[in-house]
Amino acid sequence: MAERQRDVSYPWGTGEGGPGGRSAQGARGAQSGRKVRERSSREDVTGAWDELVATARRTVADGLVVGTSGNVSVRVGDTVLVTPTGVPYDRLTRDEVVGVDLDGRQVLGSLRPTSELPLHLAVYRTTGARAVVHTHAVHATAVSTLVRELPLIHYMAAAVGGAVRVAPYAVYGSPELAENMLRALEDRTACLLQNHGTAAYGLSLPEAYDRTAQLEWMCRVWLTASSVPGLSPSLLSREQVAEVKERLRGYGQPEAGRLDRGPAG
Ligand SMILES: [Zn+2]
Repeated sequence: MAERQRDVSYPWGTGEGGPGGRSAQGARGAQSGRKVRERSSREDVTGAWDELVATARRTVADGLVVGTSGNVSVRVGDTVLVTPTGVPYDRLTRDEVVGVDLDGRQVLGSLRPTSELPLHLAVYRTTGARAVVHTHAVHATAVSTLVRELPLIHYMAAAVGGAVRVAPYAVYGSPELAENMLRALEDRTACLLQNHGTAAYGLSLPEAYDRTAQLEWMCRVWLTASSVPGLSPSLLSREQVAEVKERLRGYGQPEAGRLDRGPAG
């Protein structure tokens, strides 16, 4: 691995464990033990940052985000790595790690975190989320201006917990928006933000990303079906979606965070 170009101080220093969920093996551990733990924490952060940058770039490549209008975060221990404000994702480097603690205090890097930080932190404080993806995806944002809840157009709503709610509008970056979002996320892992975009979380970046992509796809299906003159789409009942939710519980491979957790057919 290349030498760091920039001195990044790690908030957990050589103390106990630090981010990554690796527990310290005793507070008076030997020097070598501490070095191992410190290295693994740095490796955890570096690996998570690489994955975060790749995910942020993917949101642009897949058309979910235009420019830097979305943001991505991942939790490593009690540190939240998050995309910086105003830096195109293709210019983000390994050495530009931005990290904050759960109260929003910057503990890693010098670039300013995204202005949507309150939204990300609210999710981490209230759920077991390890990753959050926020976008202004076009179909999802369009739907957010039309309804209070995405109609049950497809059973994949079950993959995010049920009917997707729309959080009432509040100005971006505000605590009000974060509060509205949390209410919309009750028993859900994704929601729409009125006249704004999407918010989704998961136990990993691929999971949060996949939920975002599924949500955008469902919004597109509903808009497409709704746009046929003289016809209106059939919708599923809550019971039908609940039935799928039950089925999904045992679906897929045992490893967590796989992309293909949804039903294939
Ligand atoms: Zn936004």
